Amino acid sequence: MEYFVDVVLPIPLARFFTYRISEQESDFLKPGMRIAVPFGKSKIYTALCHQVHQNPPEAYEAKEIHQILDDVPLVNAIQLKHWQWIADYYMCTLGEVVRSALPSAFLLESETLILPNKNQEVDEADLRDDEFLVFEALQHQESLKIDDICQIIDRKNALPVVNRLLSKQVVVQKEELYEQYKPKRVRFVKLSGIYQNEEKLQELLDGLTRAPKQSHAVLSLFQLQAETKKPIKSSSLEKEGNVSKAVIKSLIDKQVFEQYYLQRDRVEHHGEATKEGIELNRPQQEAHDSLQLQFSSKKRVALLHGVTSSGKTEVYIKLLQRVVDEGKQALYLLPEIALTSQLINRLRDYFGNKVSVYHSKYNLNERVEVWNNVLQQKEKAQIIIGARSALFLPYSDLGLIVVDEEHDQSFKQFDPAPRYHARDAAIVLSQYHDCHCLLGSATPSIESMKNAKTGKYGHAEINERFGKVLMPDIELVDLKEATKRKKMKGHFSERLLEEMTETLNAGEQIILFQNRRGFAPIVECTTCGHSPQCPNCDVSLTYHRYKNQLRCHYCGYHMVSEASCMACGSFTLDKKGFGTEQVQEELVTLFPDTRVGRMDLDTTRGKHAYEKIISAFEQQEFDILVGTQMVTKGLDFRNVSLVGIMNADTLLNFPDYRSHERSFQLLTQVAGRAGRTKKRGKVLVQTYNPYHRILQQVSTNDYTEMFENQLYEREHFKYPPVVRVIKVTLKDKDFNKLNEASEWFAEALKNLLPQERILGPEYPPVARIRRYYLKNILIKINLSRSPSKIKKGIKRIEKTFNAISQYKSVRLVYNVDHI
Ligand code: ADP
Ligand code: ZN
Ligand code: ZN
Repeated sequence: MEYFVDVVLPIPLARFFTYRISEQESDFLKPGMRIAVPFGKSKIYTALCHQVHQNPPEAYEAKEIHQILDDVPLVNAIQLKHWQWIADYYMCTLGEVVRSALPSAFLLESETLILPNKNQEVDEADLRDDEFLVFEALQHQESLKIDDICQIIDRKNALPVVNRLLSKQVVVQKEELYEQYKPKRVRFVKLSGIYQNEEKLQELLDGLTRAPKQSHAVLSLFQLQAETKKPIKSSSLEKEGNVSKAVIKSLIDKQVFEQYYLQRDRVEHHGEATKEGIELNRPQQEAHDSLQLQFSSKKRVALLHGVTSSGKTEVYIKLLQRVVDEGKQALYLLPEIALTSQLINRLRDYFGNKVSVYHSKYNLNERVEVWNNVLQQKEKAQIIIGARSALFLPYSDLGLIVVDEEHDQSFKQFDPAPRYHARDAAIVLSQYHDCHCLLGSATPSIESMKNAKTGKYGHAEINERFGKVLMPDIELVDLKEATKRKKMKGHFSERLLEEMTETLNAGEQIILFQNRRGFAPIVECTTCGHSPQCPNCDVSLTYHRYKNQLRCHYCGYHMVSEASCMACGSFTLDKKGFGTEQVQEELVTLFPDTRVGRMDLDTTRGKHAYEKIISAFEQQEFDILVGTQMVTKGLDFRNVSLVGIMNADTLLNFPDYRSHERSFQLLTQVAGRAGRTKKRGKVLVQTYNPYHRILQQVSTNDYTEMFENQLYEREHFKYPPVVRVIKVTLKDKDFNKLNEASEWFAEALKNLLPQERILGPEYPPVARIRRYYLKNILIKINLSRSPSKIKKGIKRIEKTFNAISQYKSVRLVYNVDHI
């Protein structure tokens, strides 16, 4: 008898590869175990076992495997099925899904670089002989490839040794090094409650006459508070009030002062759950009960539509509690984890150490650890919070998947393949686990709301904010009018300046939203009309004043910005449009005494830069936060009472069938940052089109009308969710070849699918990126037709296409549903 195994290699080839194994190996191997296999002339790959069988491959002689790497499967059957679904549905290969699903530490290959772990004391006695050889070699060399290690230990397969060394943390794999963010703990002090009363305070001061230092400290605190109207840091009392640490301590001991920490540890959470249960308020309870009922009456997916700050999270927590009590696993998906430390802490308050976080920005060790904890169904990984990659963990018994902010665009992965949508893939995963899936949003996507309205999904609503806080008051400011009447200072209308001044005087904070980063997106010579373009992409370069650079926002190209025109040499350069950098700069002149922070791609590049800005703003280290999209997401700042949208028009004019839906979502979300406690928040939206329907709907908070309008337009123009869409993008550096190839492809599609609407080929708005010319073909498919058949047809066309030698260099990219 001969024995064979089909394996998945983490490469973009759409097939299994067959290797020869022994009878013992065939008994031992199970799908989902890793195997080291030779590939090509001299490469080694880590592959996943798919199936053991006895049929020799027809086209080639099967090679033997090197070694089995796992004792038990690392990937379970549900995962394999789910990944296959992703590959089929999103038109990529299973290998591509595997490569992106498994932490790279699980996928060592000949080219992987191994480094000594400098942070670990190694006891050489703990090492086996072969391990020691590698360890020693790494004392003399900075890094080794797996191939080098094979030579050192004189064996054709080094993966088992390296895997052991990795788990002993003697070596590390080369990767970008990420560190966890450990914020400083900041201590604040305030007068104890009883002394807030003037009489009591006087009594206190009288009692302190013989302790002049203490009485000075009390007065200083009192004064600082009156001046700044802000929480007072212990350190500022020391510095500005000239009070010693010892005096502060003795006043705390005497319970005259109270100390507290405004900012807790954002990522690490030590210790146990601190909150017992939650009391839902009535609207929350009703939504919760209704969801329970719908879940138990066979609705697998439900949509929770609750306005911003209505307390959706509390409802999720209640539902999660039940799952945890049943001993099952739960997954809480979020659009972007960088934005979630607030939420992680909230969940840990309830579930203590049962919450683990999984994110591609975490370092490899941490990711491997979480993977193993989920695989072994450890209690500490019972609830996983994560961005889209958390979908791929080895869950065996999910009880609930929550998809928070389900409308968010960042659930879609655009590059590289698999180009999947995590919300949609989560719904499929819930089917495989036979568990419930809850989508939540203040501004649900059109497709989810449609599914809720047609009864495909369950549906519940919360229409008021928690604590009956009023929805923010949204005012549209007409920029055309303001400009005509000369009521603008830079990009600020008088109206916005008025509100800002008032807010600052009250000691409250402001968020300003501008959709673009940089200083000015277009620099144009008024003499000759020249405007500098990116040499790699079809876009103009954005001016960044701080670095005095012109930068491309598509490929990162940058150059020094010259004072004179590059074409004609004249000094008549005009800067058009504006970005966050310019807003920040104008603020310096408009409000010279006010501290301003900025949050966009440029200021959040460094390690933890993002968390630092948020935590500084929370601690009121600055008063105004200027930012792009990043400031819109789920953040809960207590002291923000004014939000200003600098210019709503750039959002609305984006050429995309979803741009109106997105504008509504974005503006509503950013408006939702205002006035989350007690006082009603104020939002000012500056625009040249105050009568634009979407802006009217934002200002009246009319989701329903927005939904109906948008659905009507989608029906009229045939866009999702009324039809399905697949976008085929062709890319090549050669302009003529690309045109020819895309004509060929479109023609083939039209022949194959005479009943579908095939649009294009057409250039996208930015028709060249990173030196590649782009062309799109859009396929619209009626809901009544089988998308899987159509996808198979397209794949057949691709095969023929790839066989045409002159098109060999042309790359094909598919985007399914979300284009
Ligand atoms: P959403 O996610 O809907 O925007 P959150 O869940 O963030 O709203 O809730 C808004 C605020 O109200 C949070 O600070 C939260 O702690 C508070 N909150 C909501 N529901 C309750 C509740 N039942 N008990 C106590 N506090 C609540
Ligand atoms: Zn010029
Ligand atoms: Zn570019």
